[in-house]
Amino acid sequence: MKEEVFVNKTLKGTGVSSGITTGYVYLLERGKISIKKIALKEDQIEKEIWRFKTAIKKAINELNNIKQSIPDDEVRRHTFIIDAHILMLQDDFFSKEVIETLKREKINTEWALDIVVSKFLSSFEGIEDPYLKERGQDLKYIYDRLLRILVKGKTPGIETVNKKAARGIIVAHDLSPADTIQLNLNRISGFVTDVGGRTSHTSIVARALEIPAVVGVSNITSLVKNNDRIIVDGDEGIVIINPTREVQRDYIARQLKLKSLKKELLKIARLKSETRDGFKIKVGANIELLAEMDIVERYGAQGIGLYRTEYIYLSRKTLPTEAEHYHIYRKLAQNKNLEYITIRTLDIGGDKFASQIEMAKEINPAMGLRAIRLCIKEVDLFKTQLKGILRASAYGPLKILIPMVSGVEEVRKTKAIIKECMEELEQKHIDFNRDIKIGIMIEVPATCMISDILAEEVDFFSIGTNDLIQYTLAIDRGNEYVSYLYEPLHPAVLRMIKYVVDVAHNHEIEVAMCGEMAGEALYIPVLVGLGLDEISMNPYSVPRAKKIIRGIEHSYCKDIVSEIMGKESPKDAEYMLRKEMARLFPQDFMKCYDE
Ligand code: PEP
Ligand code: MG
Repeated sequence: MKEEVFVNKTLKGTGVSSGITTGYVYLLERGKISIKKIALKEDQIEKEIWRFKTAIKKAINELNNIKQSIPDDEVRRHTFIIDAHILMLQDDFFSKEVIETLKREKINTEWALDIVVSKFLSSFEGIEDPYLKERGQDLKYIYDRLLRILVKGKTPGIETVNKKAARGIIVAHDLSPADTIQLNLNRISGFVTDVGGRTSHTSIVARALEIPAVVGVSNITSLVKNNDRIIVDGDEGIVIINPTREVQRDYIARQLKLKSLKKELLKIARLKSETRDGFKIKVGANIELLAEMDIVERYGAQGIGLYRTEYIYLSRKTLPTEAEHYHIYRKLAQNKNLEYITIRTLDIGGDKFASQIEMAKEINPAMGLRAIRLCIKEVDLFKTQLKGILRASAYGPLKILIPMVSGVEEVRKTKAIIKECMEELEQKHIDFNRDIKIGIMIEVPATCMISDILAEEVDFFSIGTNDLIQYTLAIDRGNEYVSYLYEPLHPAVLRMIKYVVDVAHNHEIEVAMCGEMAGEALYIPVLVGLGLDEISMNPYSVPRAKKIIRGIEHSYCKDIVSEIMGKESPKDAEYMLRKEMARLFPQDFMKCYDE
C-alpha cells in the first residue's frame, strides 16, 4: 500500500490542537516488540525478579531524565503527566502483580508483564467514558517503555527524531505525553497519529504547547512515507498528503495569515474589552480541566464563565470526594488574575456519561435524566460537590451555575439543598461565602419563556446556546445529518436571547452567554448589541473577541441587531452580517466576504 503515490489525499481525524502547519513527514516507527514466553527454572526466578525491578528503575530514570532535559519553562509546567507515569511505575500493586505472576507461572518478566497489563487493560474495555478509557493508554505507554528496556536495553528517545527532522511533521501510530513534551519545537511543527482522542494527555500537552495536531487518522502510518509533503490543519482535523502546489500555496497563505493574526491578537489579549463608545462587556473563558489555566491567562480572559465540572467525574473510577472537589475549586479561587469563576455543577447525561454513576438506558438521553434533574434525584452526589464549591468560596470569587433548569421548582429545590449544605458547614464551623452568587443556565426554551419568574430566584443567567438551539430548532447537536439546520441567527433563537437579556436587565441581574455562539467572532456585534453582560468562550478565541469589541461602537451594534432581527431568513441575516464584518475587519473576514 505504501508504494502507491497519493496526490492531494485528504484524511479526516480529530483536530486536537489548533493551527495549520505544512512540512515533510517524519515517520516515527518504533516497531512492535515481539516477545517470547520462556519457562524458568526455580533457581532463575530471583534473577528474573531483579531484572524486572531494574527495568522499573531504568524506566523511572528515563522519565526523570526527560523531565530534566526540557529547557523551556513553559513546557516544563506540563511535566505533571510524566510524574503521573512515574507514580504508576512506583505503584506497589502493579509491581507485586507482575512479580506474583512471574513466580506463580515460572515465566520470564516480559510474559508476566504482558499477562498483568492485558488483565488491567481488559477492565478499561467496557468503559464508555472517553477520558477514563484514555487512562488505559497511560498504562500502555508504561508497558511499552518497560518492554523496550527489557528487550533492547533502553527506549529510543525522540531526540533522534529531533536531530534528523528538519521542520518535520511527526507521523506515528501513537505518541506518549513524554514524547510530545520532548518535541523540539524548532524542528517539529506538528504531529499526526493513527489513534487517540481529544482528552488524551498527549492532546492536552499538544494544546498547551500550541503545536497543530490531528489524532485518530486511522492508518496514516501505512499511507505515508518519510519525506512526503503533508499539511496538518488542527482546526478542521484535516491532513492532506502530497498536496498539489495550488493547495500548498493556499494553506501556506492561510498559515502565514493565522500566525501574524495570532501575534497581533496576543498583543491585545490583556487590553480592556470595551467598545469605542465605552460599553463594557466581560470576556470569559470556558474550561474543562485545571490544566487549561495557563492558556486562560495567556489569552487574556477576565474570568471563567463556565467550568464544566463533569470532567472531574469523567477522569476516574470512583466518585470524587468533597475534599477533592474543594482542592480543585480552591486552586481556581486563589488565582489572582481572574475576576470571577463560574463553577457549573455536574452536567452528566445527554452525550456525557461517567462510569461510576449508574444511569438507566434512555431512548432519548438528551431529554432524559441529565444535569440538575439527576443531581436533585441523587442528593448526596450533589451535596458532595456543592459543599466542595462552598468551602472553596472562602478563597475567591466563585459563583455556582446550575445546568439544564426547566422549571422554577428545580431552582427552589436546588436553593434548598444549597442552604442545607451551608447549614452543615456552619455546624462544623467551616468558612464559606454566604453570599455566593447562584445562577442558572438558560438552555431550554421553556426556561427562556419563564425567565421573568426565574429572575426572582437567582443572581444571574447564563445562556447555553448549544442546547438552547438544539431544543428550540429540534436538532440533535451531535447529528451530522441535521447540522446544516444549526443556525444561531434563526429569528426564534435571536428573539429568545433578546427576551432573556431584557428580562434579566429589568430584574437587575446579569446575563452571560457561554455556548459556542459566544465565541464566534462573527456574532459578537449582535451579542454586544443585544446587551449581554458577559460572553464566555474557548480561551483561544478571547483575543479575537476583544479585538472586535474594541473596534466597534455599541450604538452601531444596536442598529445591527435591529436590522438582523428584521430578517426573516437566517441566511439573509448571516449574509448581511458577514458583509458588514468584512467591511469593518477586512483582515479577519476577507475570506468569508470573498466566498
Ligand atoms: C450549552 O449548552 O450551550 C453549554 C454551554 O453547555 P454544554 O455545551 O456543556 O452542554
Ligand atoms: Mg448545555
